[in-house]
Order: sequence, then C-alpha cells, then structure tokens
Amino acid sequence: MNVNIKVMSSISNILSCFYRKRFLFITIAIITFLGNIDLWCNTSLLTVLKWALIAFFPCFLFFFFIISRFYLLRYIGYFLCIIQIVLSIINFFSYETWGFGFNERIFIILIETNSREISEFFISFPQLLFNFIILPTHLILWILLLILFIIIKYISFNVYRIFLSAISLLSIIITIVHISTSDIGKRDVCMIIKSALWLNHSTEMRKMLVEDMNNYINNNPIEQQHISLKDSINNIVLVIGESSARHHWQLYGYPLNTTPKLNSIRDSIFIFNNVLPPYSTTAESLQCILTTKTTISKKPWYYYVDIVSLSKKAGYKVSWYSNQEKVSQFGSSTGTIANNADIVHYEDSVNNQTIIGKRAYDAVLLKKLGKALNNNCSKPQLIILHTMGSHAEYSNRYPIEYKKFTKDNINNIRLSDNEKDIVAHYDNTIYYTDRILYDVIDSLSKSPAKNIMIYFSDHSEDVYDTGNVYLHAYKGKNIVKVPMIIWFSNSYISSHSQIVSNMNRCKDMAISTENIIHTIMNFMGISCEAYNSQLDFLSEDYNCQTRYFEGKPFNE
Ligand SMILES: [Zn+2]
Repeated sequence: MNVNIKVMSSISNILSCFYRKRFLFITIAIITFLGNIDLWCNTSLLTVLKWALIAFFPCFLFFFFIISRFYLLRYIGYFLCIIQIVLSIINFFSYETWGFGFNERIFIILIETNSREISEFFISFPQLLFNFIILPTHLILWILLLILFIIIKYISFNVYRIFLSAISLLSIIITIVHISTSDIGKRDVCMIIKSALWLNHSTEMRKMLVEDMNNYINNNPIEQQHISLKDSINNIVLVIGESSARHHWQLYGYPLNTTPKLNSIRDSIFIFNNVLPPYSTTAESLQCILTTKTTISKKPWYYYVDIVSLSKKAGYKVSWYSNQEKVSQFGSSTGTIANNADIVHYEDSVNNQTIIGKRAYDAVLLKKLGKALNNNCSKPQLIILHTMGSHAEYSNRYPIEYKKFTKDNINNIRLSDNEKDIVAHYDNTIYYTDRILYDVIDSLSKSPAKNIMIYFSDHSEDVYDTGNVYLHAYKGKNIVKVPMIIWFSNSYISSHSQIVSNMNRCKDMAISTENIIHTIMNFMGISCEAYNSQLDFLSEDYNCQTRYFEGKPFNE
C-alpha cells in the first residue's frame, strides 16, 4: 500500500513538474494529432475524430481534474492521460512502421498472430523503433518539441485552456455523432470492445455468427436478382489460397523452384501477373472477394450478392470444403456465406487448436474434391476449397516429405539463420501448394467434362522481404502481390474459344480480386443485375479503373 502511494506520488510529482512547464498538454495534443495522422491522410475528418474520443477525452479530463481539489479525480486524470499518451504513440509508431494506425486492424493482427510472431516482433522492435526515431521528418518533430518546451512558459494559461477545451469538446461531439449515426463507427467501437474482451471470445464469436446469419438471411439481395444461366459448365473449382506471396513462386520468377509442378504445365495454365487483393487480412479480403461488395462500398457485406447464393439460384450445386475456421473473432462473413452452400464441410483442427496452430494439411481437401467430382451430379457444380495454404506457423502447413528447402537454400545475407529458417519453411508451404494445385488440375483433367479451376490467394505475405518481420499486415511493396492462375479443361477450351482467346490478352491486365466475382459469373454463364461488365476483366467493357487496397486508391 505504501509502495503504491509512493509510486503514485512520484508519478504525480513528475507530471506536476511537466504541468508547471505547461508542456504536457501541448505534447499530448501533438502526439495525439500525429497518432491520428494516418486517418487524416487517408480518410474523412469524421473518421479521424471518432478516435479522438480515446485520444482527447482523457486530455480533457486531465485538464479539468488536475486543477481540481479532488485527489481521486486528479489521479483518474493522470491515469487516463498516461493511457492516452501510450495509445497515441502506439498509433503513430504503428502507422509509420506498418502503414496503419491504432484501429481494429491491430487487434485483428494480434488475434491472428501467435507466440512465435510475438517474440519475433520483440526481437525486431529496437531496430523498428530506431528507424522510427531517426526518420528525417521525425527528427524535425523532436526539434520542434524541444523548441516548444523552451518557449512554452511564455504562452498564457488562458490560451492553453481555450485551445485544449475547444479541441477536446469538438472531438467529443463529432465522435459521438459519428458513432451514433454510422454503422462503421458502431462496428469499430464494437470491435475494439470485443477484442479487448478476448477472454469471452467464443461467446462473442457465436453471437457474431448468429448476428451475421440473421443479417444475411434478412438482407440478402439475391431475391431481387433475375438470374439466367446462358451456358453452364460442368465443374468450376475455386481454390482460395492463404497468405501466398507471388514473389515466392518460381512461376513468377522466384529463384528457388517452389512451383515445379505448375511450371511443368505452365503452357496449359493462365498465369496472371498483376493481381491485387482488396485487403491484407483474410476476413476483410474474402468479404469483398466472395460478394459484389468492394473496398469502397459503404454498406455491410450482407447487402451484396454473394457467390454461393448466386450460384445456387442459377442452378449450380455448391460445395464448400474448408481447412480454415468457420468463424473468427474478426468476422464470420465467410462462414456465413459458406453455410449457405449445399454441402459444407470444415476440417477439424488437430487437437482442437486454433487457425494458427496445427491443422490438417490441405491435401484433405483433395479427397473431398475427388468425392464431389465423382458424385454423378446432374447439376453443374461450384466447388470451393478454402485452404490453409501458407498461413503462419509455416512449419505446420506441409508434411515432412515436402520439406524441400532449408535455411541453406535462402541466399539473403541480411537474414539470420533463424530468419532464413522461417523463409525456408514459408517456401516449403508454396512447394506444397504447388502440389495441391497440380493435383486439383489433374483430377479435373481426368474427365471429359467442361471444367475450370481458379486459384488466387486471399492476400499476400511479407516474409522478411522488405522488413525485419514476417506477417501479412505490413506496408511493404510485396504485400499487394498475390498469385492467380486459371486452368480450363480441353472440352471447355473447345467449346469456349472466345473466352480462352480473351484470357491471353488479360494476363498482364491490372486486376483486383475484389471484382473477380464478375468474371466468375462470366465463366459460369450467369447473367443477372449484379453483374457489372466493367469489372469483369474478360469483358470488352472492362476498364482498368482505379484499383483499391484497404479502401485507398492503389498506385503501383
Ligand atoms: Zn488470409
């Protein structure tokens, strides 16, 4: 108890000292402003100010309570003030280091991450921090703060009071308006609260799934669509990759032979060279990929036509085989859409571990595919295989016989042996994916049917390619590079010569997987109101309109 009082009183002394220098508030305001700078740069004023409740409210309280005679309120003020400084610094640091600020995406990454990634992060942290501090713009900032520290005592107290009160009050008002009137504001706040209360996540996830399912049932726009099937095919297999980085594929020029199988049949597959994912995380990406929603659409995903409802209504039998989780803390849209398929199967995780732990290898999905192709289905089929692909932990993603590369194969002098080992594990996941895709094509080519396989990754991954870390949420230039390949059976090629010849001209086009649903409709012979020929890269109308990554225009 005495120790606590001592600690509190020394914190109080330090803060009072700063306060007398009239420095603290201004510093908080500046750090807070910088902490929100990513939002200032990339979104609206309202979005910026929604975070100001967290950022400025403690400042506001502190301002009033520090002069209060009530000790308890004063300590609450100190406490909130410290939290605010920490949050703002994290935000600023996060934006400068990874390209996004302190928003729900940080929680997504924390939730998607694992102990090894966390320890990696702490190992690389001093270097990141050093890089952050010595940026020229930051050096200017430190100098400005120093100057401010010196001249601050000449600024009148009333100017302070007016300045701080005005920004605090304005922030609070706009924040409340934003949260109470916008779905996104509500969602963000809910996400933060949900994530913070991670302990009861399973209940939250179940609720989220039920909520999403209700929303999906109640708002699904499929009923309003007039769908016709111009010309069906036999089987279209959509293989959704996970965290696969194009720049680690031999097929795309990686120096190691990570994709020998696909390389051996490269003349019979269409390899797309300029494909962008909509986001760098699974749930967000798939929301846009599986529906006609785009990263800049305003409404929640369930207001948009999705691939499963659409295909079913068009007369396809839809099967969804997944080696991933049905629902995760940060979204159940994929699980909800999948749940509407005619056949839904999730591989159980090994020992009940989560997505990042030990799960079955993706070959389990091949068995399911084999069964689906041999079921003598009278309808055309859409078969979706949701793989675990290259999700961290990489070493958990491939069987021992696919351990082709070791750290000795990784020729990157910048990396330590441990880092090279991680890259080698990653490359082995690509080597294994190569085998899976080859086997999918092999099973589809065995029958004389009109078959198509489409593969792309939900997002890419940075494996020490541009920084000192591996994950899929960094702003390194490689994070936007996903592989996409498409294969047609001979019988499809002979009956759809126009589409096939169009494919050749599309291979180098700027494509975003958030629009892929329109091209899939074209492949499947589906026409409906939701189809937009301008977003279908096979269409003559396709225009390489601005592509978006994480809701911002993407500049190559
Ligand atoms: Zn993913």
